Amino acid sequence: MAGIALGLHGGCGTLERSLQSEADWAESREHIALALRAGWKILSSGGTALDAVQATVVMMEDSPHFNAGHGAALTARAEHELDAAIMDGNNLAAGAVCMVRRVRNPIEAARAVLDGATAVLLAGDAADEFAASVGVSMVDPSYFTTQRRIDALLLLQQLAQTGAFVPATEAEKHGTVGAVARDANGHLAAATSTGGFNNKPPGRIGDSPIIGAGTYAHDGICAVSCTGQGEIFIRRVAAYDLAARMQYGGQSLQDAANTLVFDTLASHKIGAGMVTLGATGNPFAPYNTLGMYRGWITTEGDMTVATHAELHNIGKA
Ligand code: ASP
Repeated sequence: MAGIALGLHGGCGTLERSLQSEADWAESREHIALALRAGWKILSSGGTALDAVQATVVMMEDSPHFNAGHGAALTARAEHELDAAIMDGNNLAAGAVCMVRRVRNPIEAARAVLDGATAVLLAGDAADEFAASVGVSMVDPSYFTTQRRIDALLLLQQLAQTGAFVPATEAEKHGTVGAVARDANGHLAAATSTGGFNNKPPGRIGDSPIIGAGTYAHDGICAVSCTGQGEIFIRRVAAYDLAARMQYGGQSLQDAANTLVFDTLASHKIGAGMVTLGATGNPFAPYNTLGMYRGWITTEGDMTVATHAELHNIGKA
């Protein structure tokens, strides 16, 4: 179908290649491909960009490889507090949740907020209750926990207790999933979901559920989902800044995204990445870290997945 395109990221906190088995890398690439196929199925049968980004993010939330949904990071109290947002570039409708603890797929709760149309952002227990009341699937919080996150939390806390200064790896600092899409009617959408970062202070809310910070979509301009230290993305209003650079500054998508990732955000000495999509073009996903889980399907239907610099061309979607 003409003009449809889809992109995703799974966070800019990939480990060094040697720290994980090739089988694990291969499985994470497989999960990226599955998530892309879920969104593509919707786009290629005439569905909306909004539905496509939601379906893509649901698949990423379900994978233990990424820091969202099942496999999400833990707070300093060893609990999960999950954030997610979704935005429709067609009418600037948006929905988001933060600090949810029991919604199986936080992006579905964000979508329910968008569809409910009375609020843009719901928080905490009330967000969980709202999601349950409209039929979103709920789970016990233990569903989100994986051994990898428990081990990482214990290590971070032990190091803090001994007073040893060991900087957290990019893989511990970052992680989030997100998707951008363009549908056959030319509408854009963006969605983002995250567990934040391991050992985060309870109550901390990142950029992902903040419209204009970690997530933004506006037809005719761009759709974007961000990853990296959320505090800086909030202070820089990064996702909206991308759109403003293009709309008011006349920058191309590539120039605007590269400026943000390699200049504006990098000037704060943080790892940063984003998946973006222009009004008519193909996804573009720059990052300034060792790697970023990512994948896209171009308007020609060609699928690519990657974790580090090397691109894996999967062929036609
Ligand atoms: N942006 C996310 C947050 O700050 C985390 C990340 O993508 O690294 O919550």
